[in-house]
Amino acid sequence: MCEEGTINMLETAQSIIRRIGKQMGLLPPEIDKLLKPNALHSFEIKLDNGKSFPAYRVQHNNKRGPYKGGIRFHPEVNADEVQALATLMSFKTAAVDLPLGGGKGGVSVNPRDLSDIEIEELSRKYARYMAPYIGPTKDVPAPDVNTDGRIIDWMVDEYEKTTGDKSKASFTGKSLRNGGSQGRDAATGRGGVIALRELLKHDKKDKQTLTVAIQGFGNVGSFFATIAQKDHPLWKLISASDSTGAVFDKTGLHAKALDKYKADRQSFSNYKSTGLSFISNEELLKLKVDILILAGLGDVIDQKNMKQIQAKYIIELANGPINDKAYDYLITKGKTILPDIIANAGGVIVSYLEWVQNRQSIRWSASEVNKKLEKYMANAMKELYKVADTNKVPLKDAAFMVAIKRLA
Ligand code: NAD
Repeated sequence: MCEEGTINMLETAQSIIRRIGKQMGLLPPEIDKLLKPNALHSFEIKLDNGKSFPAYRVQHNNKRGPYKGGIRFHPEVNADEVQALATLMSFKTAAVDLPLGGGKGGVSVNPRDLSDIEIEELSRKYARYMAPYIGPTKDVPAPDVNTDGRIIDWMVDEYEKTTGDKSKASFTGKSLRNGGSQGRDAATGRGGVIALRELLKHDKKDKQTLTVAIQGFGNVGSFFATIAQKDHPLWKLISASDSTGAVFDKTGLHAKALDKYKADRQSFSNYKSTGLSFISNEELLKLKVDILILAGLGDVIDQKNMKQIQAKYIIELANGPINDKAYDYLITKGKTILPDIIANAGGVIVSYLEWVQNRQSIRWSASEVNKKLEKYMANAMKELYKVADTNKVPLKDAAFMVAIKRLA
């Protein structure tokens, strides 16, 4: 993401909170209080070999519980981006009614340039620096872009060595053998399926065959596709993309077969199957489908392509996939857009469930975790529609209204 893009991301997040806050009758100082992060940690991590990387953790709001949010390793991480994502986390946890706050962390580094030993040293030094400021009742980080269970396990180990805390509740997204939760990998995709089901029920479209295209068949997109195909045979997947382009079959694609193919680290540009066509990423976005799932990157629908979007329902499983101008345009065209702070909240919900299990020294089965996820998502959708229908506002405005009411 470019520097300008990240400033936009912070400005975009803040401007919707200002607009909705004002609409709800909040005074400017009350809105400022909602926007101001509680703490900004900015530090430098120096490896033993002399390499050095800027690192951040923003603790935005903990009114409802400990700060919660991932740590990403990416060359374009910067203070503004981390602040924007921390702000959105506070609103996401509030929108789905978790007793958690919002935070985010990051290191400006390209992990591909580092050896495994260097990544471990970086992870441990991040946890050691942050140890006084985080912990099971203060701030509970998780994995994010380019970080995973292996990295979180190193951080937990370092946190334990530094503080003596052995509860494992200091981080979520741990490996299963180190206190991680069942169901975490699939949680964001599964949450998206539940949210879409509720949306279609609300619009009385749940008994019809509907066509679906998925942009971004990665972790979130592939779990969404396989769970949707099993639980909702009426949703017909006709196209799916990765960074190389999209596979298309108007008679329907087999989600499990695509998932198996992608698990071998293959790209769609080499996928061969009878009846299949190959189209570009841009063409996928413009397909005449009922439902467009955005599960790739941020800012994929903008002023350049907004006029060609034909789907009636757009589900934001990625963070910020539609820019502000395109969003306003699509809403005036009668599209229904399910906003990211609700649509992709399944991940943070199961992170919360992992934290609860660690705090209580218990372990839930996958089906117990999925049942609880189902309840949180369905309740969040019910509240979302209550507020949207009462105030006659789009779902994104309603999501922020729900969150602001709980945070202000
Ligand atoms: P991922 O890296 O596993 O998957 C991303 C997919 O998008 C890959 O298949 C990639 O090839 C594809 N892609 C990249 N550029 C593309 C393009 N131009 N056109 C089409 N496809 C493209 O990442 P993920 O974990 O699935 O996350 C996807 C999005 O969801 C991100 O925005 C992330 O921030 C958000 N998100 C993820 C989680 C989670 O639990 N993983 C939770 C909340 C939000």
